[in-house]
Parts: sequence; structure tokens; C-alpha cells
Amino acid sequence: MINPTDLKNVREPVGNSRQEARLLKILLENSQDGVLLMDRRGIIIRANDAFALMTGFALREVVGRHVRRFWSDRVLLTVVNDALWHRGYWMGTLNLPLKRGGTAAFSVKVLAVLPDTGAVRMLVVQLAKAERLPTVMREADHEPDSAWDPLTGLPTMALFQDRLRQAVSQAQRRHYAVGLIFMDLDNFNLVNDSLGRERGDLALREVANRLAKCLRTSDIVARIGADEFALLLVDIDDVTAAVRNVSVVARKLYELLDEPIRLPGGNEIRLSAAMGITLSPQDGIDPQQLLKNSATALSHAKRKGRNNYQFFSQEMTETARRRFAMENSLRYAVERSELVLYYQPQVDLKSGRVVGAEALVRWNHPERGLVSPLEFIPVAEETGLILPIGEWVLRTACRQLATWKAMGLPMIRVGVNLSALQFQRQDLVKIVESCLEETGIDPKYLDLEITESAIMEDVQKTVAVLNRISALGVKLSIDDFGTGYSSLSQLRHFPFKTLKIDRSFVRSIENNAGDAAIVSAIIAMAHSLDQTVVVEGLETDAQLDIMRRLHCNEMQGYLFSAPTCVEEFTEMLRRGTSLPASEEP
Ligand code: C2E
Ligand code: MG
Ligand code: MG
Repeated sequence: MINPTDLKNVREPVGNSRQEARLLKILLENSQDGVLLMDRRGIIIRANDAFALMTGFALREVVGRHVRRFWSDRVLLTVVNDALWHRGYWMGTLNLPLKRGGTAAFSVKVLAVLPDTGAVRMLVVQLAKAERLPTVMREADHEPDSAWDPLTGLPTMALFQDRLRQAVSQAQRRHYAVGLIFMDLDNFNLVNDSLGRERGDLALREVANRLAKCLRTSDIVARIGADEFALLLVDIDDVTAAVRNVSVVARKLYELLDEPIRLPGGNEIRLSAAMGITLSPQDGIDPQQLLKNSATALSHAKRKGRNNYQFFSQEMTETARRRFAMENSLRYAVERSELVLYYQPQVDLKSGRVVGAEALVRWNHPERGLVSPLEFIPVAEETGLILPIGEWVLRTACRQLATWKAMGLPMIRVGVNLSALQFQRQDLVKIVESCLEETGIDPKYLDLEITESAIMEDVQKTVAVLNRISALGVKLSIDDFGTGYSSLSQLRHFPFKTLKIDRSFVRSIENNAGDAAIVSAIIAMAHSLDQTVVVEGLETDAQLDIMRRLHCNEMQGYLFSAPTCVEEFTEMLRRGTSLPASEEP
């Protein structure tokens, strides 16, 4: 086989015609591949037996003829141009005619044999049977093997980047625009998981074919990840209309994907995708930057839900940059002891006394000061950092309970929030056990809060873990109740002792009779399951009155106290600060 790197070896001895002749002879006779030699005008001067075998043409029908007899003008233009004038070689797959009629796909390599003076002596064309028909006309660069995706026959990222570079600089010269679409199929792993890898592969091939068909020949589509594709729309001549033009393509792509794909075994699937789009020169002219832009836009599109496309904007970079910076510094937050726990009291509505507290994490950022968990917990969840952070929170809360006990303060229940990932990726039971053991606290004072949506992520696994934790004597609460899609009847199989009503209900309860009715029903049902009801986010006396009337058990909210630092909270416990007791019996 000829490798592009061999080009150098060919270049050097070319001045030596004996060596050149020997090289060509070896190539011709020993090659399993079909070989053609042609001169700079395109006249075939030699061909080997393998070529005759592959194409069915006799050598005498080939030698002395112009290559145009076999290749169309379009192919000649790109292939020979590339080989002769640009790179010195061309590689790719072409459909070539057969003697018996029709065409077949061949992998083709064209090598220009150049003397040092730069004048072209001849072209060596090497043909091998291609395994499958190309979905786009292949043209390869330095790394032929990694340039093509074996599954779909599409270019890979390596080749795509090369083409992107070319397209961007060409567009600049001609004052054209270029559109780059980064596409990620929605939930494609579900196809693999439910229908099997083989059918998944077939589906990907079909997607590749559809994408390739939808583009103009000058455009490029590449497969750049398992279920990720990149599309390059070149030569958009009306720069001002680029957004509209590319949107039209994006919508066309959605339509193509939405057409059902029939798979063996009578399965039919419909796909959708998220797309991130960036334009050059509008969003930049650096190919790497453009790729980054489209990835940024893609992740925004994904966060918006399925079947969504997003154009890149500078604000996205700003958000991405902040996220990235946060992720980096968050990595060391635990080690550098930058996390702190705040405590928010939970008050019994009958006695008015503090009976519990929720531990709420804060990040004491060296530059930014206290950072809200609403800002950094999502990043921690995405990056898996929630695991060490969650463990730190749990251990710190348990130690605090032990400290309060040692100080002789009245014992209260402390709630700790858990993320779904902690159930899925960690031996949570072991961690809880070790925290209890280390601090020696009575498990009944520890209260683990979990949201409905976290439970629903992996019901079976979560239930198993919750049951084991409950068996340790630790309390479990369902957090933010009413915001998810679960129903109490679904949740009665879980060992929850407490239900926390989300504060979104409280906000509207004064003027929304519907919400009051829902809250009343939730409380009644929770009580029938022997659960304590805590209402979150109480801010006004009016809200307090209503919740008392609805027989809610406890409250947590700014009306009594915002989350406070440990010193302040300890002081509150020492003083026995309380809410005026209920007047009702
Ligand atoms: P959450 O578990 O529902 O916590 C209650 C949130 O409501 C707290 O916000 C609290 O400050 C706020 N809040 C309490 N009373 C009121 C009120 O009267 N009015 C208003 N407007 N807000 C009130 P925070 O501390 O910012 O925490 C937000 C969320 O961050 C928590 O919601 C929880 O989901 C998460 N989080 C906090 N700490 C942790 C943690 O250690 N681990 C995990 N996984 N998540 C945590
Ligand atoms: Mg909570
Ligand atoms: Mg909550």
C-alpha cells in the first residue's frame, strides 16, 4: 500500500530514473490493488492485472486512453486537482464504472510523483474494493485510517477540523459565511440499550445517510462521537442571511430525523437531536474557537430539553467560562475548608419550640464571599463533586450534633440534603454508618432529605438504599414535595417519616384557594401515613395562620429565622428562642 509518508521516499529518488522504474514495477506487479499510472494530461500509460480484474476492463482498453473514460469531470477536478496542485496526493472513496455496466465503490489513492523541480511527471492511482458505498464523496488527508469513521463512512473529527480550517479561510477570502452545526442525538443510548448494539449501529448509519443526503455536495457532515455529528455549511454567500439559512437547514435536519427509521425485527424508531450552531465570521474565525462555540451552544440546547437548536452567543461563553472557573475552584473547596454549614430552625407549630434544623451548605469563596448552593450544587452534581461535598456535609452535621450534645443543649433533629448521585454512585449506607459511629450520636436525630425527582431517577436502587438507612434508625424526609410528578400513593412505599411541602405552595396560599386545597389534601394524606408535615418558606403571619389551621406540624422559614451560621444557631438553642405557641387547642 502507498502511504502518504512514502511520498517523500518517492520524491527523492525520482531524479534517478532507474530507481523510479523499479519502484513502479514493484508497485504494479506485487500489488493486490489495482494500479494505474497516468501522465499529467490524464493519459493512462500503464495499468496492472489487478486493475483489470477489479473493473473488468482489459488492459488494452485502458492503456493509452484518457482517464476521463473512467472518471467524471467532477471527480477529475477534485481528485486530480488535489493530487497535482495542492497536496501531492488524494485519498478517498469513489464510485467507478465497471465493464459490465453500473458502478462499484473503490478506495482510491492518487499519488503525484514529483521531481524536485516541481513539474509533475505522473500520477500513480491505486484502487482497492471499498467495503461500502460512500455517503459523501470521501477525500482524506494525512491520516487515512483515522480520517474516516468505519461505521458510517463519514469523515471523523480529524478530517472535519481540516475541512473547517479550509472552509473558514476560503470564506474569508470570498466574504462568505460558514455555518457549523454540532448535533447530539437525544437519548441514543436508549436505542442501544433496548434494541441492541447492532440495531443501534444500523440506526446511526441511517442517520448518517440522511444527513449526507440533505447537504449540498460542498458541505461536509462528519461523525465526531458515538451519537454526535458535525455539519459544515460552506459558501453561504449572503452573510446577513446566514442565521436564517442555517436555521432552515437545522429545521430540515429535524424533519429528516423525525422520519421513522425501520430496523430489523419490526422495530421502528424516531429520533431527535439537540444542535448547537455557530457562524463564521460572525462568531469568530479560529476553527478551534468555532468548535468550542458550537459545543457551548449545544450544551445550552440540551439543557433546554429535547429537539432544540441554539445559536451561539457571547453570553454563553461568559456563562460557560464562569461555570468552568467554578468547577475548577470547587474541586478544592472541601480540601481548603471553604465550605460551611448554615442551620435553619424548624419550629413545632403547637409548642412554638425549635425541634429541628436543616443544614444548608454555603461556599465561602476566597474572592466572591458566600456563594449560594443554588449556584454551585448543580455544578457539583454535573461533575460528580457532589460526592465528596455531600459526604463532608453529612459528617459535619453529625459532628455538630455531637458538639451540641456535649454542650448540654437540648437535642434536635438535623436535616441533611442528599443528591441523587449519592444514591447511585456511593455506598451511602456505609458512609452514614461511619458518620454515626464516629460521632456516637443517636441515629434518630439525623434526618436525611431527598427530593421526589431524585427518588424517581432510579426508584429501585433508591428504595433499597432508603430502606437500609431507615433500618439504622435514621429519619428520612421527602423534600420539596409538590414540585415533582410523583403522587403520595406512589411514595407510601418509601420509609419517609417527614414530608416537606415546597415553598412554592406557600407563596400563593393566601390568594390562591386551589393551592390551599392542595396543601390541605397533602397534609391530610401525609397524616394518614403517619408522616410529620413541615412547611418550607413561611414568611408572613398570614401564611403561618393558614398553615396552623391546616394542621401542618412544623414550619421552616424566614418568618422565624433565615439559615444562620453555627454560632448564631447555637445561641438560639441556648436561649431557647421560640415562636409564640399556637392559640388553638
Ligand atoms: P432546600 O433543601 O429546599 O432548602 C430550603 C431552601 O429554602 C434554603 O435555600 C433556604 O434558605 C430557603 N428558605 C428557607 N426559608 C425560606 C423563606 O422563608 N423564604 C425563601 N425565599 N427561602 C427560604 P438554600 O440554603 O439557598 O438552599 C437551596 C437548595 O440547595 C436547597 O433547597 C437544597 O436543595 C440545596 N442544598 C443546600 N445544601 C445542600 C447540601 O448540603 N447538599 C445538597 N445536595 N443540596 C443542598
Ligand atoms: Mg432540603
Ligand atoms: Mg426544600
